[in-house]
Amino acid sequence: MHTYHDSLDLVRERSPERPVALVRPDCTAVAGRWFQDNFKGDVLYAVKANPSDWVIKTLWENGVRKFDVASIPEVQLVARTAPGASMAFMHPVKSRAAITEAYFDYGVRTFSLDTHEELTKILEATGGAKDLNLMVRLAVQTEGAAYTLGGKFGVSTQDAPALLLAARRSTEELMGVCFHVGSQCMRPTAYQAAMAQASRALVRAGVFADVVDVGGGFPSVYPGMVPPAMEDYMESIHRGFDEMKVHETTELWCEPGRALVAESTSILCKVELKKGDALYLNDGSYGSLFDAAHAKWPFPVKMIRDGEASTELKPFRFYGPTCDSIDHMPGPFWLPDDVREGDYVEIGMLGAYGTAMNTRFNGYGDTETVGAADAPMASMFGLAKRSISLPRTEEEERKVVRFSRPKGKAGQKRRRR
Ligand SMILES: *Cc1c(COP(=O)(O)O)cnc(C)c1O
Repeated sequence: MHTYHDSLDLVRERSPERPVALVRPDCTAVAGRWFQDNFKGDVLYAVKANPSDWVIKTLWENGVRKFDVASIPEVQLVARTAPGASMAFMHPVKSRAAITEAYFDYGVRTFSLDTHEELTKILEATGGAKDLNLMVRLAVQTEGAAYTLGGKFGVSTQDAPALLLAARRSTEELMGVCFHVGSQCMRPTAYQAAMAQASRALVRAGVFADVVDVGGGFPSVYPGMVPPAMEDYMESIHRGFDEMKVHETTELWCEPGRALVAESTSILCKVELKKGDALYLNDGSYGSLFDAAHAKWPFPVKMIRDGEASTELKPFRFYGPTCDSIDHMPGPFWLPDDVREGDYVEIGMLGAYGTAMNTRFNGYGDTETVGAADAPMASMFGLAKRSISLPRTEEEERKVVRFSRPKGKAGQKRRRR
C-alpha cells in the first residue's frame, strides 16, 4: 500500500478519478493499545465495523488476540490474516452449517445465543460438544446510543433466568452474559446500568457467570456528537463489574468495533457537478456514505484543491453517483463557497461502517485504498491536531445536532446494528 503525506499530496500527484480511502493504520494501532491498557479485561475487535485486511493485521500486531465474528466469511478473514487468533461467534442467530464449520474447521468455541432454540442448534451442530463457551445475549436499555440495537436481539429480563440456567447446564466450559448498549453510545453509565440488569438476571437464575461481555458501543467523535472521554466509559464498566455478583475468576470482555477504526479512514471524493447548494460526488450512500445518508450524520469535510480557495465557508449537501434519489447526504457540509467541478472533498471519520458498507450498485463502489500519514480529523485518543470543520458557532452546533438524530420510517428501516 503506497502512503501519501495527505490527500493534497495524492491530488497533486495523480488526480484520482475513483473515490480513494485514505487509511491510517497508526490510528487503529493507538486505539487498540489504548483499549488493552485501559480496559481491565479481554478486548475482542468486532470485525464488521471494518473488515479490511490491514485492520485485522494492525490490531493483531498490536496485541489484540481475540475477534468478534458474525459469519463464515468473517471467520475465514481472521483465520487468514491473523492465524492463531481466537474467535467468538457473537451473532445470536447462525445457520447450522456455519456453526458446524466454525467449530470443526476453524476451532471456534465461543457462541452467543438468545433463545432455547439457538442453544439446541449450537449443541446439535457441534455434535453435542462439551467444550463450548456459551454466551447469553441479554436485551438491555439502549437510550444512550445514536444507533440502538434493541429489538432485534437479546433475551428479555423475564425470560433470561431460564435461558441462563439452560446454558449453564449445557457446558463444562464457560457460561457468560453479553449485551450491546447500542452503537455510538453517548452515555458512559449505560454500561453500568446494563451490568446491573445482567447481575439481577443471574441472581434470579441462581447461577454465576464465568464471563461478563459488555459488547461494543464505544463512541467516536462526529460533528454534533462529541462524547464524554473514553476514560469515563472504562470507569463506568469497572464500577459496574465491581458491583456485580460474580466470582473471583469471572472474566471481563469487551467488543469494540467503531472506536478502534472510525478515526483511521477518510474518503477522497471528486466533485462531478455543482448545482446550487448541491454537490454531486463520485461516492455516496451505496458506497462509503451510508450513515451520512440514512442516519443523516454530518461527517467532517475538507475541500482539497491544488491552488487558492475562498476562505468563506457555506453549507452544502451531497448527492452520490447512482441514479437513486435516496443517494442524498443532507449534511450540512461546510466548504469554501467557491467549490466547483473538479475539486476534491475529503470526508473524515469513515473508518467504521464507512468503507465496510460499500456496494457495487449502478456500477460504482470501486474504491481504491492508499495510506495517509497525516492526523485524523478528530480523535478520542488525542491524535487530532485540530478538529477541521467541526461546527464553529453555537448556532451551527444546534443545527448539526438536529440533523444527527435519525427519525422516521426510512431511518428506522435501514438501521442495522
Ligand atoms: C456491531 C457489534 C459490535 C460492535 O459495535 P460498535 O458499536 O461498533 O462498537 C460488538 N458486538 C456485537 C455483538 C455487535 O453486533
